[in-house]
Amino acid sequence: MTATEPPAATDGRVLAGRTVVIDPGHNGANGAHPAAINRLVAIGNGRKPCNTTGTTSVRGLNESRFNWLVAIQARRALRALGATVVLTRQDDRGVGPCVDRRARIANANRAAAAVSIHADGGPPGGRGFHVILPGRVPQVAGHDRIVAPSERLGRALRAAFRTGTGSGYATYLGRRGLDVRTDLGGLNLARVPAVMIESGNMRNAADAARMSDPAWRRRAGRAIASGIRDFLLAGG
Ligand SMILES: [Zn+2]
Repeated sequence: MTATEPPAATDGRVLAGRTVVIDPGHNGANGAHPAAINRLVAIGNGRKPCNTTGTTSVRGLNESRFNWLVAIQARRALRALGATVVLTRQDDRGVGPCVDRRARIANANRAAAAVSIHADGGPPGGRGFHVILPGRVPQVAGHDRIVAPSERLGRALRAAFRTGTGSGYATYLGRRGLDVRTDLGGLNLARVPAVMIESGNMRNAADAARMSDPAWRRRAGRAIASGIRDFLLAGG
């Protein structure tokens, strides 16, 4: 604490008036509704299934459930900062929504930032997290404008997640915890700064142990909120 920092009472709600969309990837009943989630939807530069089941950890934790549990921790931390938080699904018992709908929820809410929370199903020997940034999708009008701010969001998220969780950058893909993709509907169709985080590798025993720990999940949710805060306070 230095003399120039404002008192905690005023800096507690630094995100008042800002809307953040948190997208917990997949959904708990996706696996029981293959026709609904396999339906193809337009993602700007092609078509992809509406949604997928996600992966399962080597400890038996469903990815959709992990994503949900971290999302509600992130929501709690963001609300404490004064943000309005919109989730793309309201529990872990439903089907979908489709990836295009998830992007449109962020767009319709004019989110200052949108973060999709996932966990990866990588090679068992690979560890760590990575943040996926949207690449250029010229077929989607206006998408170019979100590529640079999304990269800033992703870098802020990467720094906060590493500090907040103690996890390292993914050892099995990406570059220093960042990857760029143009095949994901949620990022391709975004018109607001948007990234996806693969919070760890569920097929790796050490990562899976962390992801089963409620205290670690709380740190992960808080770290995601901190990354969003840092991005927004730096000017978005
Ligand atoms: Zn996923």
